[in-house]
Amino acid sequence: MIDLIPTPDSILQILKKTGAFREGHFVYPNGKHSPHYFQMPLAFRYYDTARVLAVALSRKFRLDRDISSRLPKIAVVSPSSGGIPVAFGVRDALSAEQIYWAEQESGKRMFRQYVNQGEINPCIMVDDIIRSGHAIEETAELVKALGAEAIGCGAIVRFTSAPEEINGVPIKSLVEFDAHFYDEGDSCGDCKDGAPVEHVRF
Ligand SMILES: [Zn+2]
Repeated sequence: MIDLIPTPDSILQILKKTGAFREGHFVYPNGKHSPHYFQMPLAFRYYDTARVLAVALSRKFRLDRDISSRLPKIAVVSPSSGGIPVAFGVRDALSAEQIYWAEQESGKRMFRQYVNQGEINPCIMVDDIIRSGHAIEETAELVKALGAEAIGCGAIVRFTSAPEEINGVPIKSLVEFDAHFYDEGDSCGDCKDGAPVEHVRF
């Protein structure tokens, strides 16, 4: 069986079709302007789409012998709620044994589950989108502190401004996106053209 991985273009088409990726003139809560907006949970509200995305990402992990050779004794770990549907989809496709997800509590990232030292299998960390990489980096620290080995990392979309690897573990992604953010005014082409803005919450 040939495991085909959809091209970045076809993944972007899926994201566009579901509204998870939009083009326009957006203003983010930090005041930055951008011609692009990702709201990944919009793609994951449709089960069939969610499945296509997660299965595609899982194939990237399966091609990695260090990962595939350790299945099913692997944990799939999400840094936040946005990555939970990705984690479940990837787990399902790989038949991995465990799933964990972290949440922000009083500014600190921690696992929702009660996790004891040494309980987590060698893990792959997955998210829907990696923008700065901070969430994945914090999760890598969390996992390390609990004595687990991080052997994989991936997301549906990775901004090219994010790190390419976390502690030597390369980040796999279906789309490498060159995101642009501007201050209001001349540096933003859409401002210069007088395009109406849309304020986004996240
Ligand atoms: Zn603008």
